[in-house]
Amino acid sequence: MSLENAIARLAPAMPAFEPGHVWLAGAGPGNVGSLTLDVVAAIADADAIVYDALVESSILDAARHGVELHFAGKRGGQASTAQDDITALLISLARKKRRVLRLKGGDPYVFGRGGEEALALAQAGIPFRILPGVTSAFGALASAGIPATMRGLNKAIILATGHAGTEDDLDWAALARTGQPIVVYMGLRNLARITAALVSGGLRPSTPAAVIMAATTSQERVLVSTLEAIADEATAQDFASPALIVVGEIVSMRAELIALERLMRSA
Ligand code: SAH
Repeated sequence: MSLENAIARLAPAMPAFEPGHVWLAGAGPGNVGSLTLDVVAAIADADAIVYDALVESSILDAARHGVELHFAGKRGGQASTAQDDITALLISLARKKRRVLRLKGGDPYVFGRGGEEALALAQAGIPFRILPGVTSAFGALASAGIPATMRGLNKAIILATGHAGTEDDLDWAALARTGQPIVVYMGLRNLARITAALVSGGLRPSTPAAVIMAATTSQERVLVSTLEAIADEATAQDFASPALIVVGEIVSMRAELIALERLMRSA
């Protein structure tokens, strides 16, 4: 069966996008293949798309001719469009009876301010729906050959933000004491402080750690090191945002799993 026919058969089970509604959708970590079918359909049907910087622009090729595109993310270090402006835009587009797609990187409810936007829409009386996406942590781990869970290595996985300042920072020592792997979003700038806090919280300096940059896209780069060395190495090798930090024994599975994946594909 062709891809078109397969999608046509699945389409009746997918939600209908009504004029005047806002859908908050996750575009996944970047690659086209991680888009869900619901999100592809929403991109194709939307009259207006308000999108973030993390979304790889080729994803928008699926939009209809004449779609209204609004960029609402950070670009080249400029401050992001104020959150209030974004919600005001979503509300005004919905009131004009557009089918409004708010497209975010990863999953809209994981460090994406989707919850705030949903509350603002509800307060304004705008009907909304959440379309989940592959959050970058899981897209990046799979793409880098690091299992999120591995029997014998971990029983939980922690998703944390590294964005906080020194005052409202997470209790990294408490996270270290769980002995479970930690994936840090938005942590590159604070990497030295975070790794130092994890070591003083009790993690061995030799604990495996990785930085995964632009995961799943053609620009993906992976650095594997140790907790004590990774901050300096990431700086020396010009690792830049968007990037995730992974700390824990699961990182040590990468070498073998990547080698096996390549071997099996070429066999
Ligand atoms: N809602 C998003 C996260 C938004 S916060 C999600 O579910 O993934 C932005 C952070 O996400 C970035 O600072 C980075 O840490 C991470 N991120 C997003 N896309 C990424 C990618 N392709 N590769 C690595 N990290 C990514």
